[in-house]
Amino acid sequence: MERILVLNGGWVQLEEWMGGDEAVVRGARICYQSESHDPEADVRLIRRLMKSEPRHNTVFEHSVFRWGVKCPIFVARQWMRHRIGSFNERSLRYCVANREYYIPKGEPLLEEYTRHMEASIDLYDRLVEAGWKKERARSVLGLGLHTEFIWTVNAWSLMNWLSKRLDPAAQWEHRQYAEAILALYEKVMPVTAVAFKEFVLGRGSAQGAGDKP
Ligand SMILES: Cc1cc2nc3c(=O)[nH]c(=O)nc-3n(C[C@H](O)[C@H](O)[C@H](O)COP(=O)(O)OP(=O)(O)OC[C@H]3O[C@@H](n4cnc5c(N)ncnc54)[C@H](O)[C@@H]3O)c2cc1C
Repeated sequence: MERILVLNGGWVQLEEWMGGDEAVVRGARICYQSESHDPEADVRLIRRLMKSEPRHNTVFEHSVFRWGVKCPIFVARQWMRHRIGSFNERSLRYCVANREYYIPKGEPLLEEYTRHMEASIDLYDRLVEAGWKKERARSVLGLGLHTEFIWTVNAWSLMNWLSKRLDPAAQWEHRQYAEAILALYEKVMPVTAVAFKEFVLGRGSAQGAGDKP
């Protein structure tokens, strides 16, 4: 299972997947009752499907992924607005919060920020120790605290998320997660991912993460 580190202490990992480019070809070919003989023809078929408008979108829904993610709570909140997919998240009703949180780079007052995060977790620990329910004590924690979740999603919905969260209008931190997932997506579904980058994102395969916030 490959994991890509994102921001400080965050990551994404591809836990399981099925289908890949072959499932797109199968989805398309059953419509025409045609068979795959030539790998080059399959590549051309996927590229045509990605390019044509309106898109024959359902053929991309036969490939499915389960991602594991560790990210700040504010990124997870944005992520979970994407309804076509399934999420399960570490619960702060049942689990004790860890002392793990996002630390931005290059901002003023970072020491003060870190002191505040530490103080909020100190208070949380004291409240839990004093008998507060974890579900109530968590009220004092910040949105920069790290959370973990799993996300099962098909390739079509994944590309919808990617196109929205790679857009320069999306929050920089969320874009870093989208870049990491795009890199893993390209490894397991290369023909579709490259066509997606080219025809939907309008970028060549060379571009990647690393732009400034
Ligand atoms: C830059 C940016 C800023 C944003 N700012 C805000 C904000 O300030 N406040 C806020 O509340 N949200 C905000 N959002 C979230 C945004 O409104 C969407 O909820 C989120 O991007 C999920 O997109 P989606 O609906 O396409 O994805 P999904 O929920 O995964 O849905 C996928 C597709 O399924 C279809 N679909 C799903 N559900 C329905 C439905 N009920 N009816 C019809 N079609 C449906 C649509 O075609 C949709 O595109 C922002 C998103 C971005 C990218």
